[in-house]
Amino acid sequence: MTSKTHALELFPRDVEAIVADLGMPEYACKQILNWTYDKNVESVDQMSNIRKEYREQLEQRLYFRDSNVVTTKHASDGTKKILLAWDEENKQTECVMIPSKSRCTACVSSQVGCPVGCTFCASGLDGLEGNLEVGQIVEQVIRLGADQITNIVFMGMGEPLANYDAVTRAIRILNAPWGLGIGARKITVSTVGLPTAIERLTKFDLPVTLALSLHAPTDTLRKQLIPWAKFASIEDILKSCSTYFDATGREITIEYLLLGGVNDRSAQAKELADLCKTLRCNVNLIRYNEVPGLDFKRPENAQVRRFQETLEKGGVNSHIRASRGRDISAACGQLRREQQHITLEESS
Ligand code: SF4
Repeated sequence: MTSKTHALELFPRDVEAIVADLGMPEYACKQILNWTYDKNVESVDQMSNIRKEYREQLEQRLYFRDSNVVTTKHASDGTKKILLAWDEENKQTECVMIPSKSRCTACVSSQVGCPVGCTFCASGLDGLEGNLEVGQIVEQVIRLGADQITNIVFMGMGEPLANYDAVTRAIRILNAPWGLGIGARKITVSTVGLPTAIERLTKFDLPVTLALSLHAPTDTLRKQLIPWAKFASIEDILKSCSTYFDATGREITIEYLLLGGVNDRSAQAKELADLCKTLRCNVNLIRYNEVPGLDFKRPENAQVRRFQETLEKGGVNSHIRASRGRDISAACGQLRREQQHITLEESS
C-alpha cells in the first residue's frame, strides 16, 4: 500500500504522477494544485469539482495538515503567534504573523528546537529535537493565513541552513505561481552563518534575501553568545556573504540583537561599522525581549540610539526594529517553553 504524502510538499510533476497513477484526466492536476495551494483545503472531500470515486482514491494518497494547534495568542498590536504540535510525539514549534501598514510577514520555524544553542534564546535551551519537513514548513504559512501573507522570514525556531534541502524545496513552493506566489525577494533566510551552506545558496536559482545573525563584532564575544561561532570566523562568514551579494545582487541584512551591557556599547558599534564597511549590507538593530530564566537584559533606549548614531557616523545604514507582540511571549521559543512548563507542572 502506498503511504500518504503531505500535499503541501508536492510540485506539479508529483501531482501529475499521482493523477496518471490513478487514471484521472490530466486537467485534474491543475485542479488539485489549485485546491491545495490557492484554496487551502484541509481534506480531499472539499475538492468539489473532482469526481467522488477519484476523491476516495486521492484520500488514500494525500493529507493536508500534520499539526494540531496547541494555542493561538493575539497581541494588542495585531501580531499573532501559533504554537503547533507535530505528530504523536508532540514535538512543538512556533510561527508568528506580524502585520504592518505595508506588509504582513510570516515568521516560520525550520527545525524543532535548535542545534545552535545561542545563550540568549529560549529555542536553543533544549537543543535540537528534529528537522521540520517541507510540508510542515509550508503548513505554517497556511495556518497563519496564506491569503494575507506578503513576506516570509525563516527566523523562527531552528537554523534554516542546517535543514537546507527541506527549506529550499519549501521556498520553491512558497515562491511558485502554482504555489503561494510570494516573490523571492520577499523571502528571507536568516542564518548564524554557515559559509559552506551560504555558498550553496549562492547557486540556488531564487535570489532570496540573506540575513546574517551577527550579534557581536568580535569572534571572542560571538563565541560566548553563539556556540556555533566556533565553526567559522566572522571574516570567513562575511566573505561568503560577499559571494552571495556578487551572485545575486541582494544586499545582505545584518541582524544585531542588542543585549544590555553585553554588546551595546559605542565602541562595539564602531567595531560593527568597520565590519559592515567590508560588505554591501544594511543593519537591523533588535532590542532583546527578556526571557524568564535567562540573565540577559533589554538595552536602555538611550543606549540603542547612541549605538545607531555611532553606526551612522561610521557610514552604515541601520534600522531599529520595532518590538512586536511583546505581550504574547514574543521572544523566539518562549511560548513553547511556557507551554511545556505548564504541561510538566500539570503532570507532576
Ligand atoms: S537565536 Fe536562532 S540560531 Fe540561536 S538558538 Fe535561537 S533559534 Fe537557534
